[in-house]
Amino acid sequence: MQMVRSASVLILILSACVLAAGAQTPAPSAAQPAVPPQPALNSATAPSTAPSTAPSTAPAAPPTQSADAPPPSAVTLNDVLDRVVQHEHLFMAQMRHMHPLVETYLQDLKSDGDGNTTPVKDQYFLGRLDMSDGPEDTSFVGQPGFGHRMLAKLTGLYSLHYLPMGFAQMVVLDTDFQKKFYNFTFVRREFLGEIRCLVIDIKPKEGQKSSRFLGRIWVEDQDYNVVRFNGSYYPQPKINFFFHFDSWRLNMRPGVWLPAYVYTEESNLKTGLTKTLHFKAQTRLWGYDLKGLNKNEEFTQILIDSPQSINDQSAAAADATPVVAERMWEKQAEENAIDRLQKIGLLAPPGEVDKILATVVNNLLVTNNIDLQGDINCRILLTSPLESFTIGHTIVISRGLLDVLPDEASLAMVLAHELSHIVLGHHFDTKLAFNDKLFFPDEESFQRLDFKHTGAEEEAADTKALALLKNSPYKDKLGNAGLFLKALQQKGPDLPHLIRPHLGNSFGGGKNNLRMSSLLASAPSLDEKRLDQIAALPLGGRIKVDPWTDQVELSKAKPVALTSAREKMEFEITPFFPYLTRLSTGGAEKVALTTGSPSQAQQK
Ligand SMILES: [Zn+2]
Repeated sequence: MQMVRSASVLILILSACVLAAGAQTPAPSAAQPAVPPQPALNSATAPSTAPSTAPSTAPAAPPTQSADAPPPSAVTLNDVLDRVVQHEHLFMAQMRHMHPLVETYLQDLKSDGDGNTTPVKDQYFLGRLDMSDGPEDTSFVGQPGFGHRMLAKLTGLYSLHYLPMGFAQMVVLDTDFQKKFYNFTFVRREFLGEIRCLVIDIKPKEGQKSSRFLGRIWVEDQDYNVVRFNGSYYPQPKINFFFHFDSWRLNMRPGVWLPAYVYTEESNLKTGLTKTLHFKAQTRLWGYDLKGLNKNEEFTQILIDSPQSINDQSAAAADATPVVAERMWEKQAEENAIDRLQKIGLLAPPGEVDKILATVVNNLLVTNNIDLQGDINCRILLTSPLESFTIGHTIVISRGLLDVLPDEASLAMVLAHELSHIVLGHHFDTKLAFNDKLFFPDEESFQRLDFKHTGAEEEAADTKALALLKNSPYKDKLGNAGLFLKALQQKGPDLPHLIRPHLGNSFGGGKNNLRMSSLLASAPSLDEKRLDQIAALPLGGRIKVDPWTDQVELSKAKPVALTSAREKMEFEITPFFPYLTRLSTGGAEKVALTTGSPSQAQQK
């Protein structure tokens, strides 16, 4: 019996930047390459003013607890630094075997007269990190210069190029971290989440040939791994710029901390005579352990049926009728596509959040008396750009879109549109039922996979979705959904990379092609000053991704009351402050490492 249930967990989880920690670890080996940091940006001109080297634009430290207890058993700073250096070398060795996805989303900012900043332009990079020869990445979205260590070709006197591998670089403190290169100053002890840390300022010694890290590091006080570092690289190169960044690592396997988040911000970086750079960017890493779909594992578990069970099945055995065969064929294409997306690390494995989405879909189906043949599944695309699409009977919605939707009714609006494609039996390209169609390099995914519908199908889906919503429990709550669309319509043109879909149809940021635009009429007018009117949330506030397993869950952070309209930050990037936790050490039997990594994590 189907029931209408509320997925109210999703209602207004209004918190900005609290992305908490995931869990687990990879494996170390030996030797690290010594590669100097790559700048994240280059410019056609040398800076007329030397950029500030102090990490002054870095975000303030998080709330801390007092942690002034003496270090365990009189460990000297020198001993600590020896351990830190040792662990950084181990870290570099581990990272050479890790190939997580790296996503950087960047917003250029402009200040208005009142000192408020708004995003006016954006950029998007997605790739797979390859540090076997220093930090590099392979692009999924085909930016020029991506994947090459050479600087991108410059197009004008003051043109600026953000280099994606520059952002990937910020997961590395120093490719050859040595005590002799730096001066160290112990600052204090401080908790990051539940992890007690030693806070140490580090400064490269004068007269060094290559640029090195300048700033502050947080070292957990059990094994002395660096868990966070905040600053920049110094000295700045002649024609490029190093940005200020705040880089976080999570405890992903017992004893191993790997990069998960990097926040970058510059508010006043002079890059030419008149040009000043003002932007913020989020870099996320995930997909460290993609063995989840390894069929070889399953193969060892296949049991040969006993003759008895074969007999049991024979009564029902018959060839599929043409209609059933067609459905099976479509199902095969759907499963192939979903498996592939999950294997690449673009799709989260099935989980709890899918069930919340399925509840909303079910509410729409039940109240409209629709009984579809076969289940409808919901899955989450792990990327930031706002998009949703269907693959056969699976509705896919992006993490970024889930993050910014203000409430359950607006989620219902998105799901109703996708559900309508399924209810109306819209075309699904079954070419993916042929397995060879899935044999392509991961970085070509966005070119090879395409789940777009035609314009006519989009219109039909909008009309049907509206009808579904009118009969649903959401019918009186669609004001906020309309408000969300208004905000999207207003901000969309400045954020083309956030709105641009990679696999499905555009949500539409312009005036005429906005999805579900008939809901605009019933929405109240947009009032940016009103604190109680939340048209959209900032990015990263709702969905938490485990960078090791790719599992997603809803953030547990409690909504906070806003103190000013500036804090609404609709569709905006905010800094990261994950609540760091340590994996319990009792999980040694769970240390199953990715193929290609050398055996076990060697913990002392
Ligand atoms: Zn559509």
